Amino acid sequence: MSNNQTATAAATADYIPPYPPLVDTHGRTFDYMRVAVTEKCNLRCTYCMPEEGVDFMGKDTLLTTDEFLRIIKAVAQMGIRKVRFTGGEPLVRKDIVRMVEETAATPGIKIIKMTTNALLLPRYVHRLKEAGLTGLNISLDTLNEEKFLRITRRKGLKETLDAIDEAVEVGIPSVKINLVAMRGFNDDELLDFCEYTKDHPVTVRFIEFMPFDYEQMWETGGNFLSAEQMCNMIKEAYPNIEDSSGTRTEHHMFKIPGYAGKVGVIPAFTRSLCVNCSRIRLTSDGNIRNCLYSDKEFGLRDMIREGCSDEDIMEKFREAFQQKAKDGFIAKKESEEKPVDISALTKKGDDSTLHVRKSMTQIGG
Ligand code: SAM
Ligand code: SF4
Repeated sequence: MSNNQTATAAATADYIPPYPPLVDTHGRTFDYMRVAVTEKCNLRCTYCMPEEGVDFMGKDTLLTTDEFLRIIKAVAQMGIRKVRFTGGEPLVRKDIVRMVEETAATPGIKIIKMTTNALLLPRYVHRLKEAGLTGLNISLDTLNEEKFLRITRRKGLKETLDAIDEAVEVGIPSVKINLVAMRGFNDDELLDFCEYTKDHPVTVRFIEFMPFDYEQMWETGGNFLSAEQMCNMIKEAYPNIEDSSGTRTEHHMFKIPGYAGKVGVIPAFTRSLCVNCSRIRLTSDGNIRNCLYSDKEFGLRDMIREGCSDEDIMEKFREAFQQKAKDGFIAKKESEEKPVDISALTKKGDDSTLHVRKSMTQIGG
């Protein structure tokens, strides 16, 4: 264990959050925050961003490192114990190691993970491990070089595979591969990814495609592959496959007997796991989203810049979560029926949320 991890363990041992937990009106308690630290990215996955990028926000609109850390410290006081850094691509931020290190030193935070495309990972992986990172979810949708170029619009399959191996070698405690399953693109590779777990001690997770692609590939239809269909494909190919346990949102987890890793299927679109939701989301410009499928946001940045207290930050989260819909279908319907009044959320001259976020890179996948 590194010095920093020892310090972290000491900081969080027996920590009792001084404020009541964050709850909603449907009996759920929230202990996990996903932090989108940037909208920028070094790839252009077709199901996420257009080639030219999205309408990126200006620097002053985005939270600073200290502002992110301030929010993390505030929410830890009401029982948030897990933080995931995502984006955009979190590794394009030069302060990412400091962000992980200071989060690890925050009393109450026990788990720090990151979702990344891994292209910049070799540059940081040792320092991230030292800083206290406990898990990496690495996005990889294909094992075929030409398809990698087609889906990400960039080269980098070998670099990604090497980075996954390096993350395992360095000893990041949990390494997972996230694959967005798309009919006609990678449905013929699901079993190749299952075979990948034979010699690699990682969890490969097949994720349902969601309608957060800027170019609305979703609308043109035909790409969707359901969790149920994926589970059936896997079970048919491996009749002896064993059920395994996963996290609260990893409902379908499997282990092929004798294989080093695991396989999971995530019903991200069919939303069958909303009842177990424990997530809060923070956008890179400092807005709280109480559900991936809700467009309604609650702004923290201006409050912080005007000198609010930690209690005020916690109160804003409570306000947001009192309004959380029972599930993602209801959240989506509410957003469609009552579009967000953006002007009420933003200050004059502010370019944040001037459009409803359409891409996962803007929401934080
Ligand atoms: N850049 C990092 C990465 O790709 O891992 C982190 C941000 S990315 C937006 C987070 C996750 O969202 C990735 O695993 C990505 O595959 C997933 N994602 C993006 N657009 C999606 C969509 N339309 N449907 C399902 N998942 C999507
Ligand atoms: Fe970038 Fe991740 Fe979106 Fe791909 S999925 S464009 S890697 S943010």
